[in-house]
Amino acid sequence: MREIIVAGNWKMNTLPWEGVELARSLALSNKGHVSPLIVLCPPATHLFLIKSALRDTSVVVASQNIHWEHSGAFTGEISADMLLSIGISWAIIGHSERRQYFGETDQTVNQRTKRAIEAGIRPIVCIGETLAERDSGQTFSVLERQIDVGLKDVHVTGYGGVVIAYEPVWAIGTGRTASPEQAQEAHAFIRAEIGRHFGHEIAAKTVIQYGGSVNEINAASLMVCPDVDGALVGGASLTLAKFNTIIESARNKRIKPLPI
Ligand code: PEP
Repeated sequence: MREIIVAGNWKMNTLPWEGVELARSLALSNKGHVSPLIVLCPPATHLFLIKSALRDTSVVVASQNIHWEHSGAFTGEISADMLLSIGISWAIIGHSERRQYFGETDQTVNQRTKRAIEAGIRPIVCIGETLAERDSGQTFSVLERQIDVGLKDVHVTGYGGVVIAYEPVWAIGTGRTASPEQAQEAHAFIRAEIGRHFGHEIAAKTVIQYGGSVNEINAASLMVCPDVDGALVGGASLTLAKFNTIIESARNKRIKPLPI
């Protein structure tokens, strides 16, 4: 049985006290449930506050980024040690907005991922093709490259816990969602690639989230896909009722690991 993980990426939204209120309400409304694991990814300014506000709950708090160096002249970045010092042990890596607007590459994704694993921080590594890449038939070669380079020199022994978020760039914040068939096809491909690199046992355990305009209406049809193990949610995670409906869809999922 694989874990099911639903993460809310708040991006650059909410002020700290609004975030605390949303996080507390979310924890309260999901109290007593063991699945899915809920992960909140607020802006860096909120991390300490929200971590403290959620201390007696099962909701996990994640950073939206992590740097590969321990310290130094890297203005605007945040180190693993800084995160760990405030109890944060999860981080999103390589979100398409970081790739698109801040020069993130497969190589920097790889550096960040290796540092996170080394530090004991659980990475949610984002991959996904652009619309032009999909339209020109490159979806699988792009995913293959992003996995080959992004997870280069990550060893089986250190792999445990890496979460992959499949986020087709054309579906992020656009209101366009991959169909369940498109999502399942990509997720099955990603799982096979993880199997090729790290072996079938690890591939069967790897959580692969879908992300890209997931909302309270389309979540249920995506969550039933056998290789979709939860969601990375942007916009809809900012509204309690919508996010709770998505969480509920993930909760209703019956997990049958696919033979790969
Ligand atoms: C995201 O931020 O990872 C995301 C998928 O955003 P949205 O749900 O708004 O498309």
